[in-house]
Amino acid sequence: MNRRSFAQSVGSAVALSAFARSSARAQTSSLATPRRTMAIAAHPGDGLFTMGAVLAQQIELQGSGALLCLSMGEKGAPKDIPVKQYGEMQRTATQKATHMLGAEVIFLSYPDAEIPFNEESALRVCDAIREHKPDIVLTHWSGSWHKDHQNCHLLVRDAVFYAGLETLARSRPAHSVSKLFYVENWEDASNFVPDTYVDIEAVYEKWLKACDLYPMWRGQTGFFRYSDYYSNLSVLRGCLSGFKHAAALMSDPSQRMQRSQFL
Ligand SMILES: [Zn+2]
Repeated sequence: MNRRSFAQSVGSAVALSAFARSSARAQTSSLATPRRTMAIAAHPGDGLFTMGAVLAQQIELQGSGALLCLSMGEKGAPKDIPVKQYGEMQRTATQKATHMLGAEVIFLSYPDAEIPFNEESALRVCDAIREHKPDIVLTHWSGSWHKDHQNCHLLVRDAVFYAGLETLARSRPAHSVSKLFYVENWEDASNFVPDTYVDIEAVYEKWLKACDLYPMWRGQTGFFRYSDYYSNLSVLRGCLSGFKHAAALMSDPSQRMQRSQFL
């Protein structure tokens, strides 16, 4: 296969230099146009807690949004709930949460902790991208200790490439994603360097209510204080960007090049 470069496959790849990235407001304005956005998460909690606010913000701006969950996160079940039952609870919570945000939801239902990174999984995500035609894709950053998150990052990169490859015949025609962003996640924090800050104030309360549908958010499944962490992280990111509440994103490196004849 004569592959184009990944940078070429990321559509128009509006790119900003390191110096331009010092202006968070300038970058945020580039996200203010209504767009079709797809969030692709290893687990439902990742989808809502780390991608849900940006998804809701894009919908609020008359765009559209879809959440693709690769697994149900069922093995995170607390001791008193069987794994299968917890998976169904996760599915129900995600259907309600995405409905609250006005987003579609798609489940691929790979077993939790066993999300594969291979041609089959990359092509399934490719097909979902071709079906929903997002302008923007949000997913995990690679600097994660969690194998499902690492595999999600890798297969989304391949899926975006495959989706835009016109010579790759699938049931739907090729679709080029314009922008690929990685989201901030406490489990994916190694070398995460945000460059784009999104004002989420308009959807902040709605996003919190959607997250509160999950036992994990309320601290009922483990030690980590998800609600405290992500609600306060939005305040911290808001302080740095001049918004009341903000989400911080990291651009794919292919989007960072800026071509200019003048500085
Ligand atoms: Zn996860």
